[in-house]
Amino acid sequence: MALPKQRHTRHRRDRARKQYDVQLVNTQECPKCKGRVLSHRVCPTCGFYKGKEMVKMAPKLEASKKSA
Ligand SMILES: [Zn+2]
Repeated sequence: MALPKQRHTRHRRDRARKQYDVQLVNTQECPKCKGRVLSHRVCPTCGFYKGKEMVKMAPKLEASKKSA
């Protein structure tokens, strides 16, 4: 296993650890279903991209059917 030659300063160590935090992802509103979508991606809720249906989404089960 690689062995570091010299220790890093506290600043370098802490600067690197700053990247471990969970970072917020920028999302946009889907024009069709108003859900949150990553840009340049098909909407995970309705399967639309640029106004066209790209992915056929399975029909949602009703709440009463799920519990039964
Ligand atoms: Zn959508």
